Amino acid sequence: MAKAVVLMSGGLDSILAAKLLQEQGIEVEAITFVTPFFTSKNAEKAAAMLGIPLHIVDITDEHLKMLKAPKHGYGRFMNPCIDCHALMIRRAGEIMKEVGADFIVTGEVLGERPKSQNRQALNVVEIESGMGGYVLRPLSAKLLDPTIPEKKGLVDREKLLDIRGRSRKPQMELAKKYGITEYPSPAGGCILTDPMFSIRLRNLYKVEEEPSAKDVDLIKIGRVFLSGEGALIVVSRNEQENKELISLAEEGDMIFEVDGYPGPLTIIPQNDFGEGTIFEAAALTVRYSKAKSALEADVLGWVHGTDKKITIHVDNPSEAVDIIPAKDDELTRVVRK
Ligand code: SF4
Repeated sequence: MAKAVVLMSGGLDSILAAKLLQEQGIEVEAITFVTPFFTSKNAEKAAAMLGIPLHIVDITDEHLKMLKAPKHGYGRFMNPCIDCHALMIRRAGEIMKEVGADFIVTGEVLGERPKSQNRQALNVVEIESGMGGYVLRPLSAKLLDPTIPEKKGLVDREKLLDIRGRSRKPQMELAKKYGITEYPSPAGGCILTDPMFSIRLRNLYKVEEEPSAKDVDLIKIGRVFLSGEGALIVVSRNEQENKELISLAEEGDMIFEVDGYPGPLTIIPQNDFGEGTIFEAAALTVRYSKAKSALEADVLGWVHGTDKKITIHVDNPSEAVDIIPAKDDELTRVVRK
């Protein structure tokens, strides 16, 4: 019996791709990838619904490295879709060999995403991944050149489809036919397509040459500022974010809280920061606390994982720093007056 590994995002297209193969009696296993930008949640649900095994593969390190300078550039925001697909297909190829599968399947539809799902982009992905001829896209297969599994007769090309374009109608009809009623919306899933997060990420790469997963997780929470010296400052917004921020802190990060007043936690992730940044972080901590209208406040600061503690006195907190609104590709800036 032929066996395929399906790249499973958990969206309708990847579910249908798996279904079309199952219908031909082909054994299917699913693969999904995790990074700080997307999770395996939807794929887990989909694999359970399809009753197939799921391989969850963490590609954070490779993805962060690629994301810094993707060979084929970014989409509209910080989404490097062509390089991202090539990376996923390459890793899927490794798993294909490990599990003894014959080919790789994706739910891609020709023309559904103009930049990353056109004929040329699909070819580039195959070449870059080193898996040329082994990637079957069942939803659009009849519009594409026959793949190796089709030529070998492992898959019946006649039973594959010729869906093209951005309309989701054919997929919805197919979902109806298969009785699939629950699936996530096509847009969700990857925060690299989020405009606000993309600005944060671009600025993170400016201050941190090789950001870690923790750095990315930090800029997903709270308010994010750029100090006068150009360092990142993250201020939590609620109790839940306080907990998240502390759980992400690593040795060397500097953390702040207002002495004697409820309020946020603020963090300067470990990088080169000077006294200006420390004061601005302290002033922001007061500004978003119950002490914001007080005449003065003390802020406790400590270097996470060490005994190093300081107290920063902030006079007239509401006037201590200028907050310059974000514009274009920049973050909100905070500058000591
Ligand atoms: S949307 Fe995100 S996960 Fe999907 S290919 Fe693009 S970068 Fe990768």
